[in-house]
Amino acid sequence: MRWLLTLAVVVLLTLLTQIGGAVWIVTLGLLRRRRAGVAVFLALFLGLYAAGTALSYAIAPIFGRVPLPCFDDGTSRLKMQSPLFCVLNRQYVVPELKEAAAALSRHVDQVFPGTTTLALDANFPFFDGFPLFPHLSHSDGRKLDVAFFYQDAEGSYKDKATRSPIGYFAFEQPRPDSILPCRDREDLLTLRWDLDFLQSLWRPLPLEEGRTAEALRWLSAEGSGFGIEKIFVEPHLAQRLGVEAESIRFQGCRAARHDDHIHMQVGK
Ligand SMILES: [Zn+2]
Repeated sequence: MRWLLTLAVVVLLTLLTQIGGAVWIVTLGLLRRRRAGVAVFLALFLGLYAAGTALSYAIAPIFGRVPLPCFDDGTSRLKMQSPLFCVLNRQYVVPELKEAAAALSRHVDQVFPGTTTLALDANFPFFDGFPLFPHLSHSDGRKLDVAFFYQDAEGSYKDKATRSPIGYFAFEQPRPDSILPCRDREDLLTLRWDLDFLQSLWRPLPLEEGRTAEALRWLSAEGSGFGIEKIFVEPHLAQRLGVEAESIRFQGCRAARHDDHIHMQVGK
């Protein structure tokens, strides 16, 4: 029973943070012969985890990945949506993707001054082929999600605002005449979660279509000069925002919905 619980915790921490499961095992090893209470165990785990996170930050560049800014860094208008992504080691990309995302943020801020572009899940710091759950393709440093832009009920843009606390899962619902490629499918094995029960919990902020459309347009046009190869967004949103390009694709019905965020990726 105890082993099962340990295994479950290690798997969960690994899926969420990459290094957390290993740190848990190290903590267990260090306290193996001591009668340590839960508080001591957790304190040691958190201390080692913080050290591991700082070390990852320092050595990820050796593995070809760089962190996106967790806070305003003064050099771009790009920033992680929440420090939580950084605490969980989910803010790493290859340098060319960081450059592309920073250029996107500068562009949107140039067209719409005072706009911050918020990054969501990127990749873990280490190892190609290690996916960032639940985004199975975010496994090589070349994928990044960015948040939509939102406004208030009066139509004023709200900088750094997202509807849900983590930027995900607040879906733009399709309109009656929308393109819906996944209608009437009943896939059992799917990461396309509708999460209807969550929707009423989110802030009721309307999508700011001008900035969101401009970001998609830039990614599919100037973005290709920065290596952007593919952009995923739900077809009904591309239709509503009037953006169309070879690189703006549909991710398929078994991948996560993309009407709550934009997915971008650079080629090799
Ligand atoms: Zn993605």
